[in-house]
Amino acid sequence: MRDFMLAQPRDINQATDLLKRTSERSALMGGGTDLLDEIKNEIIRPEIVVDLSRIPGLDSIDRDKDRIRIGALTTVAALGENTIIQETFMGLHMAAHSLATPQLRNVGTVGGNLCQRPRCWYYRDPQVECRKKGGSRCFAFRGRSRYHAIFGGGTCYIVFPSDLAPALISLGAEATIASANGERTMPLEDLYALPRVDVRRETVLTAGEFLTEISIPLPRSGAKSTYHKIKERSTWDFAVVSVAMNAEVAGESFGNVSIVCGGVAPIPWRLGKAEAFLKGKPIAEDQLRKAVRMDLEDARPLEENAYKVDLLETAVYRAGLSLKE
Ligand SMILES: Cc1cc2nc3c(=O)[nH]c(=O)nc-3n(C[C@H](O)[C@H](O)[C@H](O)COP(=O)(O)OP(=O)(O)OC[C@H]3O[C@@H](n4cnc5c(N)ncnc54)[C@H](O)[C@@H]3O)c2cc1C
Ligand code: SF4
Repeated sequence: MRDFMLAQPRDINQATDLLKRTSERSALMGGGTDLLDEIKNEIIRPEIVVDLSRIPGLDSIDRDKDRIRIGALTTVAALGENTIIQETFMGLHMAAHSLATPQLRNVGTVGGNLCQRPRCWYYRDPQVECRKKGGSRCFAFRGRSRYHAIFGGGTCYIVFPSDLAPALISLGAEATIASANGERTMPLEDLYALPRVDVRRETVLTAGEFLTEISIPLPRSGAKSTYHKIKERSTWDFAVVSVAMNAEVAGESFGNVSIVCGGVAPIPWRLGKAEAFLKGKPIAEDQLRKAVRMDLEDARPLEENAYKVDLLETAVYRAGLSLKE
């Protein structure tokens, strides 16, 4: 592991000033559970690590008139244990509990989870210079592709590994971003961009920008949410396929539905056709299967991951039926 300098700014302005001067040479750190692995394996070689964890006020969960506000430095454990979250956004609560191990959840932050780097084994192999690391080839294409994308590939077939991102996007979350130019807010969904935009990055954050807050509108009456994660091992594991569903439920039928998936695309993947089809339909297995198959027509599996097509169909109908209970 190469040496680096550790900087610990004490407020947002100190952090943004420092990043403005050093963003080409520095890397941001929340809990470090992903970043430090990347440094140890020499996938990235920052000269300066900017540790955001000493900035006060970015680790709380508060409710105001119409939104819940989650500081980007809130740990995943604190999110999972928070009673407001559990009572208001069951899907987010389930996603927080589903990820990693208790030790990692105690240290890992919401901001770090939303900006973590992909787990593609070629990307994580220090010996491999694939397209995402500046090389000219994607080794997953015609290579080992068991855990890769079935939607949105082409340039690079990573899947975005975060469990919190699909859950938060399904709930209509917004992200607040700080930089030396001030603050900006955007739908969390717009934070992510496909590899064809810039294969080296998964988000639209520009140099010197970082997440400070995620906020979620309070749910409409009758809204219910859930998170269904399919993983290979019953202990800690990343999602092979996951489905975050947030729906207005009127009696036995769906009102507006939001469905965002993990493990299937380089970004959290919205099932737009299924969402439109399900509005007003009964909450029933045949309707849910029909709905997801509309989006699955766009799936383009690689040699080893066509099994994800069936898994996604199963995950969607199970998630949908659970909202009836
Ligand atoms: C064994 C293991 C299992 C895991 N399992 C899962 C899982 O099942 N599901 C899952 O979702 N994740 C999983 N993770 C991934 C990850 O470690 C955690 O999700 C954790 O929440 C990341 O948070 P962190 O604060 O430690 O991130 P860090 O390691 O500090 O940062 C991760 C990345 O985000 C950037 N970053 C950090 N904070 C910010 C910010 N505020 N604004 C902008 N960029 C920022 C960093 O520069 C870095 O690139 C796992 C990790 C490990 C090691
Ligand atoms: S899927 Fe992306 S990260 Fe993986 S080998 Fe291909 S270009 Fe590299």
